[in-house]
Amino acid sequence: MKSSVKRLQYSLIIILAAIILTITLVTITVLLTVTDRTMKRQMVSLIAVNSEQLRLNIDSYLTEVEDTAALIFSDEAYYAFDATDEKLEEYDIIKSEEVIESKIVDLGVMKNFADFGIVYSNDKWVGLISQVTDAMFPSGGMYDAFASTIKNEKTHDGWSFGIEGNHERLYYTKRLNENAVLVASFYSDELDNVFRSPDELGEMIIRLVDSDNQILYSTVRDEISRDIPEELKNVAESDENMAYMGADYISTVNKCENGWKIVCSLPNTTILRSTERLKNICIFVAIVLSTVFIIISLIITRRITRPIGGELSILNQKAMTDQMTGLINKSSFESIVSERLKAGENEMNVVFAMFDMDNFKQINDNLGHAKGDEVIVKMAELLKEGFDDTFTIGRIGGDEFAVYKNYYIEEKEAVTKIFDELLDKLYESFDKTFESEKKECSLSLSSGVLVTRNVESFEEMYKKADNAMYQSKQNGKGSVTHYKDAGGDADEK
Ligand code: GH3
Ligand code: MG
Repeated sequence: MKSSVKRLQYSLIIILAAIILTITLVTITVLLTVTDRTMKRQMVSLIAVNSEQLRLNIDSYLTEVEDTAALIFSDEAYYAFDATDEKLEEYDIIKSEEVIESKIVDLGVMKNFADFGIVYSNDKWVGLISQVTDAMFPSGGMYDAFASTIKNEKTHDGWSFGIEGNHERLYYTKRLNENAVLVASFYSDELDNVFRSPDELGEMIIRLVDSDNQILYSTVRDEISRDIPEELKNVAESDENMAYMGADYISTVNKCENGWKIVCSLPNTTILRSTERLKNICIFVAIVLSTVFIIISLIITRRITRPIGGELSILNQKAMTDQMTGLINKSSFESIVSERLKAGENEMNVVFAMFDMDNFKQINDNLGHAKGDEVIVKMAELLKEGFDDTFTIGRIGGDEFAVYKNYYIEEKEAVTKIFDELLDKLYESFDKTFESEKKECSLSLSSGVLVTRNVESFEEMYKKADNAMYQSKQNGKGSVTHYKDAGGDADEK
């Protein structure tokens, strides 16, 4: 009974813990889904704001180059000079070039340009045209190459990339007059300073692409000069500034004043990773909570059930014992003896003896029920004194008792002899204890004894001993009868 109560408690605790775990996990999943969506939305707006800032940065960077180039128009002496004019005197040419050279070098050096010079249609140039740029045209064609990059009809200028396979510089060309163009350039990796993003967007790839979707600059260096990745083409082709939440990326496109576009992309895994971490923390907390719940529940139920358990065992004991004598009652006696037989004692020599007081009713009738109780208690005491702890002793009826014991002795006769000696002592004590009751009410003790081996069950033993008891009563009471196996009669003493 105690163990089934415990089993019920444990099942309840486990069911409750499972419910708590499930509720927590479901809540966490719902919260995370909402958080995930909110985080994605926040990330999209963060990227969009950041991309717009990047656009402003690059526009101002490019405008600075354009504005510097425009300073050449501050004086006709700088822009109107045509080195190819055959009418000009050599002296005037040298003079003009000196003036232009000093202006251009001042500006170019000040702005730290890689190139800043004027190229004339005869491929002569003044200013800071770098060796790298010069070497790109070993057999001429510098003027034509740069002049062809002037695409804007209104402002007569243009930005270009990849001229003669040079992917390290971005060139700006502006027409000064019919036979002269100004060429400025800077290293594309200087844009690292322009394309700065906050740490949360550390994994974002920033690309600057031209109108042909060729990558002019990328935070992934290998991509420079390649076409934009296929999956971003749709986004890059948009003419509007926009942010796009795709299955794999959050991406944005922002258009610069010169027609170039900034295309940013952040893999969704970056966002998922932070929610994933949150998810793991939540699952861990849920498991810890359930475990703590189980432990606390176990401690509480133990505290509560320990006294209940104690009460139960007292009740159990009460149910097993006969209150008047303190001996075990008939059903307990039967189950204990049955257990002992099952445990292997059935293969040994065992003794099972039943005792029934004779004419006990007369005690009740003549001396009163209380005296009867006293006699029963005394009889129980005699049995406890006569048979040690190796015996199972029980009160199996009103004035009826039984004893059982297994012997590790092979010979049945030897067992019988040992037990008979105990019986003699018991009868002696009985006669002494109940001397007056014997006289007044003819009280005596009848018994039926079974000494046997290979007994099959308690019932079988009981039947045989009861049979012997019956013989004792038949033979005038106050005697011991040993049960004799089939063929032999019960043997009275
Ligand atoms: P027999 O010689 O054939 O054994 O007869 P008996 O008078 O001893 O009576 P029997 O064994 O048939 O029945 C036992 C009687 O004991 C029946 C009942 O009135 C009485 N009795 C049973 N339990 C108690 C008890 O707890 N206290 C008292 N005082 N009497 C009891
Ligand atoms: Mg009796």
